[in-house]
Amino acid sequence: MSERVVIIGGDAAGMAAASQARRLKSAGELEIVVFERGHFTSYSACGIPYWVGGDVDGPDALIARTPAEHRARDIDLRLRTEVVEIDVAGRRVRFRGLDTGLEGWIGYDKLVIATGATPIRPLRAPPPPRARAPPPAAAAVDSEGDVWPVVVDATLGGGDVALRGCDTAAPVSSLQKWLGTADPGSASSVGACSGQTSTGVRVLARTPDPLPRRESLFSVARHLETAGLLGVFDAGAPVTSRLAAPLLSDPRVGLVITVAARPDAINRLQPALAWLDENFSEFVVGDAVIVLTEQVPGAAATVIDHVRTHLGSWVRAVVQIPFDLHLATGGPISWHRLTAETRDAYLTLLGALR
Ligand SMILES: Cc1cc2nc3c(=O)[nH]c(=O)nc-3n(C[C@H](O)[C@H](O)[C@H](O)COP(=O)(O)OP(=O)(O)OC[C@H]3O[C@@H](n4cnc5c(N)ncnc54)[C@H](O)[C@@H]3O)c2cc1C
Repeated sequence: MSERVVIIGGDAAGMAAASQARRLKSAGELEIVVFERGHFTSYSACGIPYWVGGDVDGPDALIARTPAEHRARDIDLRLRTEVVEIDVAGRRVRFRGLDTGLEGWIGYDKLVIATGATPIRPLRAPPPPRARAPPPAAAAVDSEGDVWPVVVDATLGGGDVALRGCDTAAPVSSLQKWLGTADPGSASSVGACSGQTSTGVRVLARTPDPLPRRESLFSVARHLETAGLLGVFDAGAPVTSRLAAPLLSDPRVGLVITVAARPDAINRLQPALAWLDENFSEFVVGDAVIVLTEQVPGAAATVIDHVRTHLGSWVRAVVQIPFDLHLATGGPISWHRLTAETRDAYLTLLGALR
């Protein structure tokens, strides 16, 4: 008794399998049944563009081998017949004639499924919200002791903290104007020029203009110290900003490097740490805290593990700020509207800085 191979799909793959099987075994040894739900076999889909472009006359020219040619080689080809069920345990398939509606079962010894594939179409979903820079001002709210924190916008032209952190009162003046006041080393002059966050933290914002002559972020730090205030500097990115250099030379200033928890962003971390090590000292790096902000919910775990494993021993701590919709929306940041998890993360950061 001969074996039977059933092939589902009668185009390139299915008919190639049928032809090869027939080459290997005669009709007496092997029965070959092919189900093809379409009207054609062995048609060249690759040739469709040539047909559309007028280089070939019509669809008939795309057929490499006709059903009659296959049948002449003892291949039982059933066009317009669809396989609608496979009974693996019973080694049989159920077929249905698309024009006749007739159904039946046929058994197989071997089964070839050559039904083609459907291309994956990338979904064009709207981009997820992305959390932006965290508010270090908020972290300072629970700072213990008598020293009141002031966040200084130490970027070149207006950082996130100054733009989004002042949810209670926008900055009424600028860092430059404050430096031009009669006594920048007094708490009242800082209060008069700064904005305020809902945590009570003050924010000194800057404009793109240069600082007044003989002033630098180093002298800003000294003025704040004289006023009995704690300066927290938002140096923006990149970390190599020349404005931050005087601060990095001061061993009393701790460095927080905030990076988006994304592979492309963390790839820049190692060169930045190497640059700090080369231009300042290993102590700057060893004392730094890396803050990874999760920008898409649940997307950061691998990135954070990677940073902890590869860079964790270089720095004092690696702290994760979880995704927080309030950070992601882009409006003013209020400490009280952050989730408890986010607030905890900032307090952990604060603990790492002490
Ligand atoms: C426009 C175009 C241009 C292309 N150009 C190239 C090229 O230049 N180079 C290249 O290498 N490739 C090209 N390809 C791809 C190539 O055509 C395919 O890789 C090839 O056709 C795949 O053959 P296949 O037999 O695996 O699947 P298909 O050609 O998809 O055949 C599957 C067959 O199974 C039948 N079938 C499905 N389900 C059932 C069922 N339940 N019962 C019965 N029958 C069923 C279908 O009717 C179909 O005839 C092109 C494709 C297209 C569309």
